[in-house]
Parts: sequence; structure tokens; C-alpha cells
Amino acid sequence: MMLRTVQDVAQLPNSNAKRTRCPICDAPDIAHFVQAFGFDMDRCGDCGLIFCNPYPTATQLDLYYNSEMKDFENEFFRETFEARAMLFSKRVELIRALKPSGRLLDIGSAIGIFVESLRRAQAPYEITACDLNAAACEQLAQTYGDIEILNCDAKDLDQHNAYDVVTMWDTLEHIVDLDELLATVRRLLRPDGIFAFSTPNTDSFEWLVAGNRHVQILPPGHVNLLNTKNIVRLLEKNGFGVRDQMTLNPSLDISYVLKLLDSDPVVAGRTDAFLQNAIKDPEFQDMLSDYLVQKRMAGNVVTCAFPFPET
Ligand SMILES: [Zn+2]
Repeated sequence: MMLRTVQDVAQLPNSNAKRTRCPICDAPDIAHFVQAFGFDMDRCGDCGLIFCNPYPTATQLDLYYNSEMKDFENEFFRETFEARAMLFSKRVELIRALKPSGRLLDIGSAIGIFVESLRRAQAPYEITACDLNAAACEQLAQTYGDIEILNCDAKDLDQHNAYDVVTMWDTLEHIVDLDELLATVRRLLRPDGIFAFSTPNTDSFEWLVAGNRHVQILPPGHVNLLNTKNIVRLLEKNGFGVRDQMTLNPSLDISYVLKLLDSDPVVAGRTDAFLQNAIKDPEFQDMLSDYLVQKRMAGNVVTCAFPFPET
């Protein structure tokens, strides 16, 4: 079902120009990385951004996000809710340490996993949840009657200096125009506010092993795949500084790599024999986990940023 929808999307005409320079660092060093689901993804030789080139059109994205695929995704979110709520509690702690209370806008809330984590932690924020998907917003309204729910694109909100915290969990990779997104966040945030977000980290253990076979290569849903370093470049270019950046949950890298070595002969064939054996050893897994956290090389990166003062 999902495959058919994505192929329909890829067959729509795409009038977007193919980029010859990197959307983040402007380097001209762009090389083909992989083709998936009828879309080409390129990689910047300078900052490492992996991006859909050309980017999908608004019409393609509209079809993709209003397809059965989205219902399928909401169902997946419901099924994995408990397991993922655990992962979000650390994110709540990080934000509370920087901004203990105030107005919080969560962009791309889906069915509310972060809202649930805030509730469980009894975090005293005045919460607004924003999502493009109508079905997700309906479910949010049923579960959390006392929060503000906005069924729209965050860039269409006309507020200024309205929020102490803006969060965006595992959503950045879906956004085509990252400069426009950051201009929106800057406008919505108070001058002393914080912007906290997570996204896949391609400078990670799981990406080093999986490469162009990684399961997160998912155009036109994932259009920009970043890493710890080019996130900093992107933020600075758009008037933000980084307060904190970390990669949590290295156990997810390890379990994904174990699964991949078992199921993908291409990846197994190009992975060193020592690593293939060692990674099955619980002691090695513990050491590797510590190392990945220390070096910020786990597959999901959380960044807390703050807006530079207006000049
Ligand atoms: Zn670049």
C-alpha cells in the first residue's frame, strides 16, 4: 500500500530545479548518493547533508501526506507509543533544565507522544500542539482536552515573540525549506526562548554501517538528512546559537545494526568481520554505547538552540 502511494507521488511532474549547490553550506560539491522510491538523493561533499534533489513539489508532498500512508503512520505511532514515551522523558528533562516553565509550542505533535511525556513528568508548561494532519489533531483533542491544538502549518501562525519553548521532534528531516522553518521559529520564539529539536544523525554508528541502505532513506517524507556538525552551520546561518547538543539512545543504533547485519546481505558483505562478531558481545555493546554518547555518534541528535539578539 505504502509503496504504491509513493510511486504515484514520484510520477507527478516535478518542476523544481536540481540544485548544484548545497542548501546548507552552499558548497558546489554535490554527488549522487542513492535513488529511492523514484526520488534521487544527493550528498554534499563539504557538510555531508543528504537531500532530495530536486526537492519534491508542494503538490507531491500534499498527495504524500494526505495518503493512506499517514493513517498507517498514525497507527504505528499508537502501537509504539509506550516504548517511545520512555525515550521522550529525557527530552523533557533537558528542556526543563533550560526553561522550567512558560508557553511551549510543539510543532509536528502527531498523536501527542511529547505532550504525554510532559504530562507524566508534571512539567508546568502552557502547551500548544501544532500538526498538519487533521486525524492526529482530532485524536489529540480527544486525549488532551485542556491544551491548545492548531491544525495548520506552523509557518502560517501569525504570532510574534509568543513562546518560551518551541519543540520539534523528528520532524526537521521532513521539511524542504529549512531556512524558512528557522525564520518561523525565530519569529514565534521570545528573545530569551529556546528551540529544541531532534533529527536523524548521519554522522553516527548506524549510518556508518548502513550507508545508502539505511531505513531512514525515505523520500519524499525525509527530504533533508543532517548531522551534528551541519546542524550547527544551519542554525548559525539563521541566527541561532547552540546551547546543548547530544545523541541519546545508542542502544537503538546497536539493535538496528544487529538487525541489519542479519537481514541485509549487502551491508553484511561490506562490514568488517571483527565488528560483526564483537557487536554481539554485551560487554562490547556497553563500551560502544558509552563511546557513542561521548562522541555524539548515536543515530538521533537532540539540539537545544537559542536565538541570537536581533542586530
Ligand atoms: Zn553542504
